[in-house]
Amino acid sequence: MAHLDQKTRKSPQKGGTPRISHVLGLVNVVLFVVASLALVAFVNYGMRRHSLEEARGRSQVILQRNLAVHQYFNSQLKPRLFERLGQGGSVEPAYFDPTWMSSTYAVREINRIFYDNVENNDGLYYKEAAVDARSPDNEADEYERAFLEALRQNPSLNEWSGVRVIDGKPFFEVMVRGEAMEASCLRCHLDPDRAPADLVALYGPERSFDRFEGQLVSALSVRIPLAAAYANADRFSHRLYGVIGAVFIGLFALQWFLARRFVIRPLGTIQDKVVQIVHNESRLGEQVGSFDTLELNEVAAAFNSLSTNLKQSRDTLESQVAERTEELHHTNRLLEEDIRERQAVEDALREFSEFNASVINSLHDALIVIDAQDYRILSVNEVFLSEEGCLNEKGVLGRTCHEVIHGFSSPCFNDGRDCSLVRSAAAGEKVVVENEVQTPEGTRYKEVVAVPIKAADGKIRQIIHISRDVTERKEAESRIRELAYFDALTGLPNRRLFMDRLRQSMKMAQRRGKKLAVLFVDLDRFKNINDSLGHQMGDELLTRVARLMEECTRNMDTVARLSGDEFAIILEDVEHDDSPAIFAQRILDIFTEPLWVGGHQTYSSCSTGIALFPRDAEDADTLLKNADIAMYEAKRLGRNRYHFFSEDMNGLALKRLELENGIRRALLNDEFFLCFQPQINLDTGRITCLEALVRWQDPVKGLVSPGEFIPLAEETALILAIDEWVLRTACRQCRTWRDNGNPEVKVAVNISGMQFKQPKFIDLIDRVLAETGLPSECLELELTEGHLMDNIESTIMTLTDLKVRGISLAIDDFGTGYSSLSYLKNFPIDRVKIDQSFVRRLPEDGSDKAIVEAILALARSLDLNVIAEGVETELQLDYLKTRDCLEMQGYFFSRPCRVEELAPLLAQAAPYGQYGRAAVRL
Ligand code: C2E
Ligand code: MG
Ligand code: MG
Repeated sequence: MAHLDQKTRKSPQKGGTPRISHVLGLVNVVLFVVASLALVAFVNYGMRRHSLEEARGRSQVILQRNLAVHQYFNSQLKPRLFERLGQGGSVEPAYFDPTWMSSTYAVREINRIFYDNVENNDGLYYKEAAVDARSPDNEADEYERAFLEALRQNPSLNEWSGVRVIDGKPFFEVMVRGEAMEASCLRCHLDPDRAPADLVALYGPERSFDRFEGQLVSALSVRIPLAAAYANADRFSHRLYGVIGAVFIGLFALQWFLARRFVIRPLGTIQDKVVQIVHNESRLGEQVGSFDTLELNEVAAAFNSLSTNLKQSRDTLESQVAERTEELHHTNRLLEEDIRERQAVEDALREFSEFNASVINSLHDALIVIDAQDYRILSVNEVFLSEEGCLNEKGVLGRTCHEVIHGFSSPCFNDGRDCSLVRSAAAGEKVVVENEVQTPEGTRYKEVVAVPIKAADGKIRQIIHISRDVTERKEAESRIRELAYFDALTGLPNRRLFMDRLRQSMKMAQRRGKKLAVLFVDLDRFKNINDSLGHQMGDELLTRVARLMEECTRNMDTVARLSGDEFAIILEDVEHDDSPAIFAQRILDIFTEPLWVGGHQTYSSCSTGIALFPRDAEDADTLLKNADIAMYEAKRLGRNRYHFFSEDMNGLALKRLELENGIRRALLNDEFFLCFQPQINLDTGRITCLEALVRWQDPVKGLVSPGEFIPLAEETALILAIDEWVLRTACRQCRTWRDNGNPEVKVAVNISGMQFKQPKFIDLIDRVLAETGLPSECLELELTEGHLMDNIESTIMTLTDLKVRGISLAIDDFGTGYSSLSYLKNFPIDRVKIDQSFVRRLPEDGSDKAIVEAILALARSLDLNVIAEGVETELQLDYLKTRDCLEMQGYFFSRPCRVEELAPLLAQAAPYGQYGRAAVRL
């Protein structure tokens, strides 16, 4: 603004640009001078005309007089003159020319006579000239010739006048015709000093005058110098010049005064104001006063209005500029804030990207980011580089994933392979694919997770490809799955697989109109062998029997171990209802000879029940149950025999009914009680938890184990009541323990599948916890795998509900159920309990060791705690300790005990301190 002001306020140049008033003044002066001169010239011209006329008139008079004088001279004076001359006058003889002399003398005399002032007067001279008309070549000049010509043409012409130049000087000459003049001429020279020469030149001594057209013509010529002729005019003109000049100067001064007074000064005032305003804009709005002229008043008014308007405009502009400046400041502040925010965002982004990079590089899985359009690799992590044997990113970035990972020149899906990227791109969501990869070390399994990254427009731009080597997990999984379908001891299909196959076989048989039979085989008095020879011998016997049974069957048949010493066989394509009997007999025959087990001869037998499809049942469960009933019948009849199922064998149903009633009665009569089995943490040697195990003290049958009544209770839904009772009793007991000096103790309660699926299960838990006042963190619920798998979504919800309450969740009998690892990932569980069947044969049994180790590795990878159930020996304990399994439960530490029996244990801070980690003996 200051810069602009300086420019606009620059004062007018004094040296360079002239002031217009000065210029106008100068022009004025010039115009006046020119106009004055023109006027003077015009007046002078008129005056000259007038002078010339006057001169002519006076010449006429003079000439007329001259003629009279001439006559007078000739007649009167001439004789006197000659007389005087003859008497030796002072006239020089050289110039003697009587004519001339006489004339000149006469003229002088005349002048002396008529005009006293002639001699001293520079003004008028006159002469008498005789013009020789006959000599046109006479240098008397054109003028005279013209005169003579004029005379010739106009004989009456008496006068001729004009300006004649003689010897370069202008003269005004008037010629008058003289009549009857003598042959002589009076001549009068203008300049007496030059007279002799001129006289000789013009009129030599012999010069004579002729007659003009027979008549002597004499012309009287008067030559008057122009200056003299115009003397009056010039005199007048000098005065005129003075007057006019004075007048004009006066006028000019007047107009200058008026111009200054009325125009220039007011304009100067306005100009000064303008300059002041230009130099100091705060003076904008100042006014000039009124002036004496209308026009300047209008100008002043216009200036005042302009000044006011300009001031208003400036004020408006300044306020607008101030507003705008404020706006700009505001915008600037916003921009600065914006920039700060952007900076913060950029910092956050940079931090985030560094964080991302460190997260990506801290992954144990290989990660790459791929362009969804052309499958080119955009980013990789260190694991990927090391897996691919690349030193740095350069060798990988920009290349396609199929080229780098698989060595293919075209995308994987071109060859019909299952490509996670393509599936992810198509589905627009995360896709998990398992790939089998052949390596020099053998087959490896890779779990590939493809996660699409979408742009704001929803299009998939990149795909994150995370690949994890899951070979170990797959192997463990397949092992565990094997366990789910096969009996770990004998390698025979387990109950689950058996039931599957039975259902399949029944469908096939039904379709083909064939029969099949189910044989339920139970070893007689196997418990005795177990007890006498030990579990290991028992296991060997079971394995031996299993092999023999397989030898007895056809390939199409299925031999399975259902549990303990119970086997079941499916016989396909049974021709006759009796045919299974032959096979049942073959089984019986296995035991006719003693069986050698571990160097011992064992004598055993079996009881077999046979049920036929479709005769005895329409579904697999009933068919097996009927075979079981038939087996019991065989046992009842004395063992070591087979028995076909028949409808009248509903004794079992009666038995079940009896048992069911017994349970109801037990609930009513309070015949159930709880035993608690400690769970120990070997790191501390402390009891961390106590598992509540229900017991039934039947007044008639005595102590009934859960194995006997729980399955029936589950079938009849009585388990709901049992579980609720156990839950409440266990919680109350735990609360009592905590209140009585064991503040850290927890309680684990087994929950049946049916109970877990109850819609009000969570309410029950809340209610019981509220009733007993036990903190939820002190409760652990044990659930078996099979129960969790029915409805995974609702299972997850229920588990999550429990989890958020702080309740611990354990999977009981782990390894005997589904053993699907995927659920482990999805369920919010805290720990798994390795089933005692895998612990029992540790550390001798290789396959059990492998299973236990696989479970431990799996649990570790999923960050789950593990507790081993059924630890009975120190060897088992030591083995588990070396595998870092430090939570255990089993008879080695304590059998399930009544509350009062537990008191001494709970009284100790670390009752099992001596089995700490350091105490490994292996
Ligand atoms: P579980 O939950 O796996 O309980 C462990 C079973 O193993 C108990 O048998 C326990 O006495 C036994 N045990 C513990 N340590 C050893 C050991 O070192 N060697 C051997 N051979 N066995 C050991 P129990 O009490 O007969 O219970 C059997 C099953 O009955 C339980 O298996 C559980 O599934 C079910 N059960 C027990 N109490 C309840 C209950 O209150 N509610 C429900 N729903 N089920 C229960
Ligand atoms: Mg349990
Ligand atoms: Mg268990």
